Amino acid sequence: MYGDAGNELPKSDSASGRDPAQILRQVFGYTQFRDLQDVVIQHVMAGGDALVLMPTGGGKSLCYQIPALALPGLAVVVSPLIALMDDQVAALRQQGCAAAALHSELDDGEARDIFRAIHDEALDILYVSPERLLSGGLLDRLARVKLALVAIDEAHCVSQWGHEFRPEYRNLAILGERFPDVPRIALTATADPRTRDDILRSLNMQMARVFAASFHRRNLHIQASPKISETQQLREFLQGREGQCGIVYCGSRAKTERTAARLAARGLPVVAFHAGLEPAVKRAAARRFRSGEPLVVVATIAFGMGIDRPDVRYVVHLDMPDSPEAYYQQIGRAGRDGERADTLLLHGMDDIARARHFLSLSTAPEVQKRVMRLRLEAMVALAESATCRTRALLACFGEEIADGCGHCDVCATPPDVFDGTEDAQKVLSAVYRTRQIFGALHLIAMLRGEKTEAIIRHGHDLLPTFAAGAGQSALHWRGVIRQLVARGVLDVDIEGHGGLRLVDERAWPVLRGETRLMLRRDAVVKPRPQATKAARAADGGMDADDPRFIRLRSWRLEESKRQGVPPYVIFHDVTLHEIAGFRPQTLAELAQVRGVGASKLERYGAAILKIITNENYLQNST
Ligand code: ADP
Ligand code: ZN
Repeated sequence: MYGDAGNELPKSDSASGRDPAQILRQVFGYTQFRDLQDVVIQHVMAGGDALVLMPTGGGKSLCYQIPALALPGLAVVVSPLIALMDDQVAALRQQGCAAAALHSELDDGEARDIFRAIHDEALDILYVSPERLLSGGLLDRLARVKLALVAIDEAHCVSQWGHEFRPEYRNLAILGERFPDVPRIALTATADPRTRDDILRSLNMQMARVFAASFHRRNLHIQASPKISETQQLREFLQGREGQCGIVYCGSRAKTERTAARLAARGLPVVAFHAGLEPAVKRAAARRFRSGEPLVVVATIAFGMGIDRPDVRYVVHLDMPDSPEAYYQQIGRAGRDGERADTLLLHGMDDIARARHFLSLSTAPEVQKRVMRLRLEAMVALAESATCRTRALLACFGEEIADGCGHCDVCATPPDVFDGTEDAQKVLSAVYRTRQIFGALHLIAMLRGEKTEAIIRHGHDLLPTFAAGAGQSALHWRGVIRQLVARGVLDVDIEGHGGLRLVDERAWPVLRGETRLMLRRDAVVKPRPQATKAARAADGGMDADDPRFIRLRSWRLEESKRQGVPPYVIFHDVTLHEIAGFRPQTLAELAQVRGVGASKLERYGAAILKIITNENYLQNST
């Protein structure tokens, strides 16, 4: 099992007294703070409370880890997931920090060691689950030692508006009462204002300063396509990505298993993941994912929080999420290492209709349903967007960007927008004249003038709309109908047989020519081919086939197995690539590489130099 770091509980060699910039360099091996990190750190070190909003991969952890190391006393970090805590602790120990995690999977002896370390003031950072923190007299123990700060990670868990509500988080407000003089810092990657207000109120942190970083992630390439054939579209997307790690999200448990089985049959390393699996199966899946091997995880949204594997290269949605917030959180799991990552959203008329239908059946209070409806419609609009998707997405979080992002499908290939009023009228009149009970396939066949058995049987070949759209492809009509559903002009009878119906107040103005409709033409977009190796190198990207990188990676894998920690807590791919490219000859040169701090230099420096210099020897002797 990963996470224990295979070590004794480390001793605090207390970095306190050092300034944050020194700690950034010496402990973490980075030269510069990222957007907002330094101001947050200063604010907390001066004793202020803070709410930090940063996108996934933005660098939230350093905002509390650096004050934790710089200030005297113990920093308590509340975190919702054991895997997440274990990874953070393993990574911190690699960096020479005295960190430990207290949660339900420890045995009594391990927990006792940690209690002793707290009592002896030998720890810098203690990760703890909310349940554990508030039970078993832990607060009383903490009250007897000096605390540097309290951090509440994944703070959106406190909010009912969020999609990851954890009732225990509500009780964390007590921290302010128990430790009024200890600065508190809450952190989340959920940006919407409602959740933010909820966090401040529920944690009783209204006086906290709010730090909101930009949520624009330039390494996320966003693409959305109408569903035509999921299986084929997924297959095409996965082509050329065999060695990578990615996540494929599905709307149902059964679909994750079906899809995973299909990919496995094609020889891909794949696991299914959903909440209905046996705990042991789930743990095994999570372990494989964290082992750093190339893996496709086909999952429901149950696979989510706590994913901090940095090298997830793609996220695919086979079904549409129900809000832009959920969508951004899910695609945000790709590319935490800052390198390019690709996302693909497949969306169809049935997704929209089903989501609206379930919402209408929900027993949630009306206010809440209204918010859910607004979010769903924002998601639909995003999927159908004819303008920059990143801009549309960020607008949902109140952030504006001036121009197109340059890294979404719309920016890459602006879609053709046309006046679709007449086409819409043809569809609507076909729906009306066939008595609003037929599905899209039948209507398309009819518009195209196909004499199918059903069309003849119902006499639909005698209607004036028969063959009214013969000049256009089935794909075209499919796109028109989907957009009419998306805009709420047509409605799908989910409980019946998927028949299309007019939504009177929107449909009649179109039929009467009072409303004009601009539609986007569905292009059959082939997923962009993977950049060639040369293009990737020119792009500053990473070449996974570089032999030096491969040697460093296999060294890392052995090292990670030996220590029982995930490979990425030893070094990220980005760091290995930099080493491979830079070829340091001395420890001092190696220390220049991003992500190589003093502790890692001491632990691994000699081994890495040996790999690099052996290679020189090999090259010279040939
Ligand atoms: P978050 O918790 O916001 O999702 P993390 O704290 O895990 O993000 O940071 C994401 C990645 O960025 C990590 O690999 C981290 O080491 C790296 N990182 C954070 N701050 C810096 C920095 N100032 N310079 C370089 N890399 C950084
Ligand atoms: Zn764009």
